[in-house]
Amino acid sequence: MLHTISAFDRMGEENAFAVLARATALAQKGRDIVNLGIGQPDFKTPDHIVEAAIKALRDGHHGYTPATGLLQTREAVVRRTLSTTGVEVSPENVMIMPGGKPTMYAAIVMFGEPGAEILYPDPGFPIYRSMIEFTGAKPVPVPIREENGFAFSAEETLSLITDKTRLLILNSPANPTGGVTPRAEIEKLVKGLEKHPDVAILSDEIYDVMTYDGETHTSLLTFPELRDRLIVLNGWSKTWAMTGWRMGWSIWPNEGKGAGLYDKVRKLAVNCWSCVNAPSQFAGIAAIDGPQDEVEAMMAAFDRRRKLVVKGMNSLENISCATPKGAFYAFPNISKTGWKAKPLASALLDDAGVALIGGPDFGILGEGYMRLSYANSEENIQRAIERIGAFLAENP
Ligand code: PLP
Repeated sequence: MLHTISAFDRMGEENAFAVLARATALAQKGRDIVNLGIGQPDFKTPDHIVEAAIKALRDGHHGYTPATGLLQTREAVVRRTLSTTGVEVSPENVMIMPGGKPTMYAAIVMFGEPGAEILYPDPGFPIYRSMIEFTGAKPVPVPIREENGFAFSAEETLSLITDKTRLLILNSPANPTGGVTPRAEIEKLVKGLEKHPDVAILSDEIYDVMTYDGETHTSLLTFPELRDRLIVLNGWSKTWAMTGWRMGWSIWPNEGKGAGLYDKVRKLAVNCWSCVNAPSQFAGIAAIDGPQDEVEAMMAAFDRRRKLVVKGMNSLENISCATPKGAFYAFPNISKTGWKAKPLASALLDDAGVALIGGPDFGILGEGYMRLSYANSEENIQRAIERIGAFLAENP
């Protein structure tokens, strides 16, 4: 055996990719699989965005760009941030990243090391914990509870901070629950954080515009008192159906307490990926500045599917499904079915042809839940619900 560092043994996975691979393999063998597993819009990237990338290629944009991203792309992010949050950031604080995940990685490796503690949502996006473990820091789960509308609780979050806490990770609208934390709760948290001035915050706002029923997202950027210790993760993957383009952005502090952070992430980019490819960055500008009607149509479709999933899952015996307020996931409670979530997810894929993810893949508090991504047609969602119902009726 070659001696690789032990950090790799501690690193986790995102099981959605394994389920996708299994579902695809079964489909290739001729099985009829309804995939509610993977968290990616089933829509194509709007044409005008694709055209912008093609034009960039034809115009000869084939070389490296600055490691931080093209100034034009960073300026587009500034415009987008102003329009969604009312906050004017500087392009000097914007990093163009190859997707949302690299910001997660950058922030966590910047603060994580043995002896440090990092708070993260549980259930939450599995890569937070995986990356924390990778650095050797102690992962401290912040419980996200159904009875709290899958919002984080300011009081509970603050109670978990110790003198070893370096970083607090927040995510709203949330994966896997669809929870949106109300502004009043965020205000309470921000107030409480005054007592912990050395804790940095990573706010994952990748689902920022994906909310329903008039619910609004509160960006942590709207709290100027946090700015010199706040990193905001965002990106193109979800809003513009661009998961495969690997285009994300983040906003980093570079003043006061946060002096030097932007330079550190720039250096990480130089060492690891150099830059994001130029055609994608031109596509990113077109996404932000171009017409948003396809985004609106996609959200209207997600909203219809959301209602269908909630109604359908609640019609099944022993299952209850809270109405998600954001993102494109539902997190039904299956604890009364008598099944554990992971064996149920496995059996549903093998026996009923429905791919979804067991709650424990998102954390300890995920037991008793399953994540359904409603990035699939209404017809397929209906079929999935019927199959789940029939499976549970035959296998109580
Ligand atoms: N953050 C959250 C909460 C997500 O759900 C995801 C993707 O599923 C990401 C970040 C990563 O996005 P990307 O595909 O752009 O790396």
